[in-house]
Amino acid sequence: MVGRRFCIPNDRVRFPASPLIEEQPSAELYDFVIIGAGTTGIYAAVNILCKMRCRVVLLEGDPDSGGLLRTTYPDKTINNYPGFGVVTADKLRRSFEQHLHEVFDGEIRYGQIVSSLRRTDDGLIEVLTTDGTRIQCFSVIIATGIGFPQPRRLELPNASEFESKGLEYYGSFNLSRLQGKEICVLGGGQTSFEFAEACADAGLRTTVVHRSDQFRCSDLLVESCRLKQVQIRCFCVAYRLEQIDQRLRLTLLDTRTKQLETIDTDLINVTQGMITRTNTFGLELDESRKLKVDSNMQTSMEHVYACGEAVKQRYQIKTIVYNLFTALVATNEAMEELKKVRTVETIKQNVL
Ligand SMILES: Cc1cc2nc3c(=O)[nH]c(=O)nc-3n(C[C@H](O)[C@H](O)[C@H](O)COP(=O)(O)OP(=O)(O)OC[C@H]3O[C@@H](n4cnc5c(N)ncnc54)[C@H](O)[C@@H]3O)c2cc1C
Repeated sequence: MVGRRFCIPNDRVRFPASPLIEEQPSAELYDFVIIGAGTTGIYAAVNILCKMRCRVVLLEGDPDSGGLLRTTYPDKTINNYPGFGVVTADKLRRSFEQHLHEVFDGEIRYGQIVSSLRRTDDGLIEVLTTDGTRIQCFSVIIATGIGFPQPRRLELPNASEFESKGLEYYGSFNLSRLQGKEICVLGGGQTSFEFAEACADAGLRTTVVHRSDQFRCSDLLVESCRLKQVQIRCFCVAYRLEQIDQRLRLTLLDTRTKQLETIDTDLINVTQGMITRTNTFGLELDESRKLKVDSNMQTSMEHVYACGEAVKQRYQIKTIVYNLFTALVATNEAMEELKKVRTVETIKQNVL
């Protein structure tokens, strides 16, 4: 486990630690535990610490913060996050962490994967991590996104042979490496078309291949790709992949006509979604297999809230801003509940 306590210079401390909890208790007692330091979890911490004197710990399974922005698309640009203009995911996620440093007088621990949650007899929630750490708290905010996801692989028996030979999954948006190359994008989502558009802007011949004619992205983006001469092949799936003269030859099967056709290309970027690997902590799930929450973002366990991509998304195109809204609701509600009992120590005193 890698722990990091932020030391904030005196002139930047806005809220001192809770006066009712003078020192770090040996029993690991906190007001709030936040699970996951993606954009949602970081914002949850910021919102609490900007509003309340309390003890918060943020537990992150990875060695760094940022979630998908760091692990999946660090050099893609984000153009829909307010106040930043067009910004790379890496820069935006660093700004989130910087913001956290500026307001955070709690604790963030990296490499701590939360394995279970349990309500204890004294009304607290016990949080267990895979390294055996036990923390008791008043309230938990789950911001675990889609867990530790993996890109969905191309379903061809020999696909793995090509992974260092031009076949990529959610490939880098650093396109200077692709000068003069021909690009094929497999997938019909927002990232597929964003990548295709970036390639077209860089003057690269680009084809998007998708299994249907329904795209999970904005119409404007598809239109822009068409205008920029991106070829869009609908109702096609990958059928065979081989290497011919240092290039890739992709055979496509047209699912309507059953005809085969080949595309010769230098790079295939597969952006066909992510396989989620997430822990639902034994909580109730909804019909979309996400954590079931009520209108206050509370899960099936009292004082355990969930937000961000850990819960059902209202819109097909997922956005950071929407997730932050859910974190705002979850943390505001959690703080209201805490105000009723003041601090976890008060609860313990009442019970013991
Ligand atoms: C390729 C791609 C491009 C995108 N582009 C955009 C865009 O341009 N604009 C936009 O608004 N949105 C975009 N999105 C959507 C946006 O990235 C997500 O909605 C957002 O990252 C979700 O944030 P989150 O914090 O809820 O989850 P995540 O970012 O997934 O963060 C969850 C964190 O929880 C940690 N974690 C998980 N389980 C545990 C556990 N048990 N214990 C401890 N830690 C745990 C993970 O390690 C991770 O750090 C894109 C998504 C993808 C996949």
